[in-house]
Amino acid sequence: MTDFAAVLLERDEEGRTGARLTRLADSDLMAGEVTLAVRASAVNFKDGLAVTGRLPVVRRWPMVPGIDAAGVVIASEDARWQPGDEVILTGWGVGETHLGGWSEKMRVSGDWLVRRPAALSPVEAMALGTAGVTVAEGLDRLARLGVTPADGSIVVTGAAGGVGSLAVMLLAREGWSVTAVTGRPEEAERLRRLGAVEVIGRDLFMGPVKPLGRERWAAAFDMVGSAMLAHVLSMLKPGGAAIACGNAAGMDLPASLAPFILRGVSLIGVDSVRVPKARREAIWSRLADIVDRQRLAAMTAVVDLTEAIDAGHRIVEGGIAGRMVVAIG
Ligand code: NDP
Repeated sequence: MTDFAAVLLERDEEGRTGARLTRLADSDLMAGEVTLAVRASAVNFKDGLAVTGRLPVVRRWPMVPGIDAAGVVIASEDARWQPGDEVILTGWGVGETHLGGWSEKMRVSGDWLVRRPAALSPVEAMALGTAGVTVAEGLDRLARLGVTPADGSIVVTGAAGGVGSLAVMLLAREGWSVTAVTGRPEEAERLRRLGAVEVIGRDLFMGPVKPLGRERWAAAFDMVGSAMLAHVLSMLKPGGAAIACGNAAGMDLPASLAPFILRGVSLIGVDSVRVPKARREAIWSRLADIVDRQRLAAMTAVVDLTEAIDAGHRIVEGGIAGRMVVAIG
């Protein structure tokens, strides 16, 4: 394969982002020790931001979006990786500063790769993808803080989205009683099937943020940020913790200090891009162990490269339910 299909993002003189499906040559590939034939990628919120140019996540032009990839090694100058090895790559700036996974081929650093667990197909690995790493990392951070299902229930915001749906499923699997928050009532039944005990709308999180609200949950997984996270913090039980994952509603946090200094609440940030390699290996083996593959398939739609650009536009409009995989090759 000397030339190959990829989605390419370019910026015009006015700074607007354009996206097209095109063919690239091997000479377009970036520096790295390992060349992959990509089998699957995913549509993450960050890919949507890159495709639409809504936030400046792309820091190298032109760019191939796709922060996740599952593929097979086809050439390697890194002794740890041999042709035929099945691998996963999430984060590390791929799709932001290094050409990403919406492509039939990638050349990357061997340090970024994790062996794909045999129990997961490439599509299943990408249905988990960065979202799975994020949820697993959040679960680990809660456990290290000593916040457990015995302390009370957990609230998941942005629950019908990709990370949210996965969080509902994996938190329920790990014994948490999950309250799912969604602005899409039509998704309530699907979220219950994933394991949510309660599904509520966004009304509780509207209006001015009170310094302290009624104590409702021991923990939170927040995909939304802004006023939603501020409201969530005000409703955590003493000693509770919120995992800050996302900024679907904005990067700001109009919160009070009261939950922190009067209830000992913790706010924990998760950055899936820079999770150290050793922890990623543990995360993927745990994900392969705990994921319910039937439920994962039920919450995942599969598109191909010709449909990925449109999907990138839809995800930033909140128009995708569950996870979306891009099947390649
Ligand atoms: P999705 O678009 O699939 O999900 C986001 C969800 O947030 C939507 O489905 C919607 O849920 C909710 N939402 C969107 N806009 C608003 C709004 N204005 N007010 C309230 N709720 C809103 O994206 P992903 O699940 O892929 O990503 C979620 C967030 O997590 C993103 O901000 C993403 O950048 C971030 N992220 C962070 C990572 C990290 O390492 N920290 C890793 C991966 C993702 P509903 O319809 O149910 O209300």
